[in-house]
Amino acid sequence: MSDTFHNDPHFHYDVLVIGAGHAGCEAASAAARMGALTCLITMDMEKIAQMSCNPAIGGIAKGQIVREVDALGGMTGLVTDETAIQFRMLNRSKGPAMWSPRAQCDRNKFSTKWREVLENTPNLYIWQDQAEELLLENGRAAGVRTVWGLEFRARCVVITAGTFLNGLMHIGRKQVPGGRLAEPAVLKLSESIAAQGIRVDRMKTGTPLRIDARSVNFDLLERQEGEDDFHRFSFRSRRRPLPQLCCWLCNTNEEVHNSLREGLADSPLYNGQIQSIGPRYCPSIETKLQTFPERTHHPLFLEPEGNNTNALYLNGFSSSLPLDVQLKALHKIPAFAQARIFRPGYAIEYDFFDPTQLFHSLESKVVDGLFLAGQVNGTTGYEEAAGQGLVAGINAALKCSGSKPFVMHRDESYIGVLIDDLVTKGVDEPYRMFTSRAEYRILLRQDNADQRLTPHAKRLGLISTEESEPFETKQTAISDLIHFCQNHSIKPRFINEKLSAAGSTPLTYGCKLSELIARPELSVHALSTMIPAFRSYLKSIPSQTEEIIETAEIEMKYSGYIQRQQQEAEKMHRLENIRIRGHFNYNDIQQLSTEARQKLTRINPDTLAQASRIPGVSPSDINVLLVLMKR
Ligand SMILES: Cc1cc2nc3c(=O)[nH]c(=O)nc-3n(C[C@H](O)[C@H](O)[C@H](O)COP(=O)(O)OP(=O)(O)OC[C@H]3O[C@@H](n4cnc5c(N)ncnc54)[C@H](O)[C@@H]3O)c2cc1C
Repeated sequence: MSDTFHNDPHFHYDVLVIGAGHAGCEAASAAARMGALTCLITMDMEKIAQMSCNPAIGGIAKGQIVREVDALGGMTGLVTDETAIQFRMLNRSKGPAMWSPRAQCDRNKFSTKWREVLENTPNLYIWQDQAEELLLENGRAAGVRTVWGLEFRARCVVITAGTFLNGLMHIGRKQVPGGRLAEPAVLKLSESIAAQGIRVDRMKTGTPLRIDARSVNFDLLERQEGEDDFHRFSFRSRRRPLPQLCCWLCNTNEEVHNSLREGLADSPLYNGQIQSIGPRYCPSIETKLQTFPERTHHPLFLEPEGNNTNALYLNGFSSSLPLDVQLKALHKIPAFAQARIFRPGYAIEYDFFDPTQLFHSLESKVVDGLFLAGQVNGTTGYEEAAGQGLVAGINAALKCSGSKPFVMHRDESYIGVLIDDLVTKGVDEPYRMFTSRAEYRILLRQDNADQRLTPHAKRLGLISTEESEPFETKQTAISDLIHFCQNHSIKPRFINEKLSAAGSTPLTYGCKLSELIARPELSVHALSTMIPAFRSYLKSIPSQTEEIIETAEIEMKYSGYIQRQQQEAEKMHRLENIRIRGHFNYNDIQQLSTEARQKLTRINPDTLAQASRIPGVSPSDINVLLVLMKR
């Protein structure tokens, strides 16, 4: 191509994002909305935000991430609400730290909606092509060259190539290069990135077959209905416009297991064909048989892929066994005895980059101006990808404007926990989020993600003042409700009879409403039926009443735990404020253990707090560094 052609504005941007998956869409959308001239280069515009596996968003801990993405001004939550065909709040029987929203979505509508969002974002342009080489100038990222030889230039490059880098798909002994079924693999880009000194390794994942609904005997399945209360993914949406559908449950049985076992010799997972490590918590059905040989059945969930399709996703039946084995086993489940399928299950191996070579901003420590987000950092899941994409997009835009990076602490968000885990500990298997990974989880609830993150979104320019008004009103109403309950008492004679009827101990003295709400058997709603003045107060809340009551109630019920975790987080912040990058040559510090010296040199942590979280760095190593810092 001629130089004049390459001088065309089509090829010059502030931020280039490679790959319109869940990470790339959030990255491009955020960077553009923050004012960076952005180009999203993706291989196939018909596959924007394609859900490679189940078309479901959220789930345990993942749902909290999507709420955070939304509160921080990302778009995944809004797109999910617009395209949800079933919504449920998981873990309702547990404490509120564990409540996790999950939505089954219409696969095609999800993708179309995201495309509509991106095409209507000012400052954002889309180019359909495959990036095959990272371009550098003076050692810093400067753009990409595509398979057509086009050179796109930018101040920052965000790579979000998902499972496509040297992707290799497996069904039984058959292997086909590809990034996803029927989509090509990207063969050169990882080499060009690795050539800069960025470490590359391999991981694998898999997906189940898809069943044609016309061939299923639904009478033999158990229905699972969705919920239709006030909960949404987005703090900004009030509706779920699509007709809601149900899912179905069933189980495998011994006959299914026997059929699957017969095929194990041809399983790429067990015949040595696949060497890389897959997600431990999302195993294939053949792995479940090997790990739990004593189990006579495993649960399966049959989930619709959309309103206008007969395709059903068989959750729990992920497999890369030969197709005849998958089919034979499927037909041993009574409801699927006559089942026809649209496509087989398969496994895929792909490249990822060592995330310990990233800063918390998701910028590479090795190549200035290069950001990496999503599956390429060793994570698994749309939500983990979206969270990282948003942070990478924000930081690429901030870098272009010469501003300080945006980094979230571990007590601020699951996204903060995710990124800190990645850059501090690295990954040796696909990383998915769990509530147990967050030490401050009573602070990181799905209901209060806006409280935690929307002020950042406002400051970063990701939500407008107009959009933030309902947020401000809601926060005031929550404080007012808590204040009301802390300042209004009730005398025993007005409530004891009702308390006894509700199975709650009668009062001896007057008691604040907040203390009554803290009782496990009582709630704001229960008290409102007992105390007319309280009922009138709640009725005076003009909007978002249920959301306001939910958060206020949790804060009153769990105030002791919340305060304790806030104090612990405060302590950690003190270490978080002690910056150590560039202060030490760890190899010269003899008082450190050998392992600590190696790990500290390799990770080169930002702060003393991050150093304390590196596996192999002990509290006594941290004390050594503290003493040296004091000197
Ligand atoms: C078979 C399979 C099964 C999976 N099963 C699960 C599961 O059970 N549970 C789970 O949590 N997750 C699963 N995943 C992972 C999940 O799909 C990913 O975590 C998620 O999609 C990652 O989002 P991403 O944005 O990082 O990448 P992706 O969603 O993979 O998107 C990458 C995008 O980049 C584009 N692209 C790639 N390279 C280039 C290039 N060089 N130039 C231009 N465009 C490019 C692609 O076309 C694509 O649009 C599975 C994935 C696959 C493929």
